[in-house]
Amino acid sequence: MEMNFINETDPEVAELIDKELIRQQNTIELIASENIASKAVMAAAGTVLTNKYAEGKPYKRFYNGCDLVDQIETLAVERVKKLFGVEHANVQPHSGAQANMAVFFYALKHGDTVLGMDLSNGGHLTHGSPVNFSGMYFNIVSYGVNEYGEIDYNNVEKLALEHKPKMIICGASNYSKIIDFKRFKEIADKVGAYLMADIAHIAGLVAGGVHPSPVGYADFITTTTHKSLRGPRGGVIMCSKEHAAGIDKAVFPGIQGGPLEHIIAAKAIAFKEALKPEFKEYAAQIVKNAKALAQSLMDENIDIVGNGTENHVMTIDLRKTGKTGKDVANLLERVGITANKNTVPNDPQSPFITSGVRIGTPAVTTRGFKEDDMIEVGKIIASAITVCDNEVALENLKARAKKLCDKYPLY
Ligand SMILES: *Cc1c(COP(=O)(O)O)cnc(C)c1O
Repeated sequence: MEMNFINETDPEVAELIDKELIRQQNTIELIASENIASKAVMAAAGTVLTNKYAEGKPYKRFYNGCDLVDQIETLAVERVKKLFGVEHANVQPHSGAQANMAVFFYALKHGDTVLGMDLSNGGHLTHGSPVNFSGMYFNIVSYGVNEYGEIDYNNVEKLALEHKPKMIICGASNYSKIIDFKRFKEIADKVGAYLMADIAHIAGLVAGGVHPSPVGYADFITTTTHKSLRGPRGGVIMCSKEHAAGIDKAVFPGIQGGPLEHIIAAKAIAFKEALKPEFKEYAAQIVKNAKALAQSLMDENIDIVGNGTENHVMTIDLRKTGKTGKDVANLLERVGITANKNTVPNDPQSPFITSGVRIGTPAVTTRGFKEDDMIEVGKIIASAITVCDNEVALENLKARAKKLCDKYPLY
């Protein structure tokens, strides 16, 4: 990190970045959508590539001087195609939301019907939330999860047959079960709908072979690159050759201008890292750590939605404790654990308060945490929930969390 340059120009910002590094070093990061990018990924994001305009596709740009960024973007595209085994990829979406917007822009017309997972049941804003473009410009029908936190596929099928959506979206921001892409494809085929798989959260698990892949089932696969995939902040769209030209046009000139070639270089590096055999071990460890954490919490008499997890994420169900998700997420921050409040199925509280806390293991797994460490994390969380009014006890828990952080330096 070129902190010296920043400090010379702007000590105010430099100091805040420094403090953020220390914050990250000294907290146990359980926000399921976050991770810790490698130094190489971060370095690429801070290069001269940020100076370059490159509207268009590699070797078909609207600006001159693109020969080198063409080569960089081509590397990113070829690597991500290899990583997921797809025919076509567009690495230009600035984020996961932009990737999804581009698919909507290509596959749908204003007002078309879309069947997606409800936000409060684990879906994403871009899957049809009324405050998002997806919910404002399309006719949204939503499916949710049952009390065990599982998608009821028969209900998805029933809704599809009834509403005849043009597109069905699977993939979630908070879903702790394996997604049955084949079943979704069968339902989509019954009603002639496109299937979009948004693997933003599980991309690293899919790449690492510990979650089934939607390739071969979904017409469009979108992802972020910064969650379990451990790259820079950004998005990717993957599809078959049939949709390639249309998807590319939807990204540019449809919804974006110039691509972020510095971020695309960082994506290329992240894909190279994810193609290494070590990444398979990393992905497997994410899941092992999540299972160990879920078990530790349940052993401490804390409820988990669906009684465990099959991937990297789970939701603590606080209903029997009388505490809210908001309070517990704030409490955890005081002891040095970062997580976010989240609704549980049939949550009696509002989305601003909630009765749950979502926790996940991609970031701590990158740091090197193993199952034993996750058991300790589970004990710290469970104790924090019980001793929440006792300052001395909370200080003691904070020291235990700090000890784990010291054991595994961030960089
Ligand atoms: C995080 C996420 C996104 C959006 O990604 P951003 O980069 O934040 O725009 C889209 N879909 C799902 C399922 C996600 O979890």
